Amino acid sequence: MESVKCLIIGSGPAGYTAAIYTSRAALNPVVYAGLVPGGQLTTTSQVENFPGYPDGVAGTVMMDDLRRQAERFGADVRHGEVTAVDLSQRPFRVTVDGTHEIFADSIIVATGAVAKYLGLPSERKYIGMGVSACAVCDGFFYRDRDVAVVGGGDSACEEALYLATLCRKVYLIVRRDILRASKHMQQRVFENGRIEVLFGYQTEEVLGDDGGVTGARVRGPEGVERVLDIEGFFLGIGHTPRTEIFRGQLELDDEGYIVTSGTGSGSTALLGSTETSIAGVFAAGDVADRVYQQAITAAAAGCRAALDCERFLIE
Ligand code: NDP
Repeated sequence: MESVKCLIIGSGPAGYTAAIYTSRAALNPVVYAGLVPGGQLTTTSQVENFPGYPDGVAGTVMMDDLRRQAERFGADVRHGEVTAVDLSQRPFRVTVDGTHEIFADSIIVATGAVAKYLGLPSERKYIGMGVSACAVCDGFFYRDRDVAVVGGGDSACEEALYLATLCRKVYLIVRRDILRASKHMQQRVFENGRIEVLFGYQTEEVLGDDGGVTGARVRGPEGVERVLDIEGFFLGIGHTPRTEIFRGQLELDDEGYIVTSGTGSGSTALLGSTETSIAGVFAAGDVADRVYQQAITAAAAGCRAALDCERFLIE
């Protein structure tokens, strides 16, 4: 059976950055790119907040650049999805696409997270054409326009507040009659003159034409229907970390994110460390980050994971 020193699972900014660093450290990393090579950024149109791209860059182009940079130093980037892991002893046993098995001395988990969507067919139709799950990535395109955000937690409130700095009007569509967000966040939302909170509303259809989103049909208390004239429809109903295959093996938090010693609490917290509950397994990017979830923070975590992994293998 094939044996590798360092196996990287995932090909977003965290996985590729880890691949760049580990290949330059002569760890001969093998990267399994997963079902969506390039990760979440390949579903964003333009990335304008990643340092080093003064004119912005298409998400797909940036991820292709990262892959080529990793390959230039010898990273072996492969198609295929890791479908099972056995972390009970080292070397770890990893199954790819349900059949192919590999032994790995160390693993960097960078499987990311997926944004939750409502699941409406009309919503799916306009993803990338007005429907977005990332206000920081796409809000800029809706300057001085009207938009809506769905959700009542901290993410939705944060998205609404961010969009209110750019957009003319922001509707916050909340399915219950209360916000789940922190009190401080709620207060900021209520005090913002550009945000209108629609309590007790559910989205029934995202409306649009060939140019993208033109509105949303929502239903409120007592069955009242409203059509919102909006050009951007943002989801802020949370993310799901991609940790199914690690459940029962790595320590996860109550929402399924991987716990690293850098995100732990108390005296064991090691600032920024990517170590997981199993020695030799490291986690980087959105799979271990429920707060920041940016390409640049994921890339930084990928760098840290590579350095942690290198140190582990030397020791
Ligand atoms: P949450 O799970 O806290 O909130 C999700 C929100 O989306 C809830 O209001 C929920 O409604 C709503 N929702 C879920 N599904 C649907 C649906 N199908 N239709 C309509 N509404 C829906 O997720 P967040 O991403 O907001 O936050 C996750 C964690 O990250 C939290 O712990 C949060 O505190 C933290 N966070 C912290 C931030 C900060 O401190 N700056 C910023 C962002 C996140 P309902 O309430 O009815 O269930």
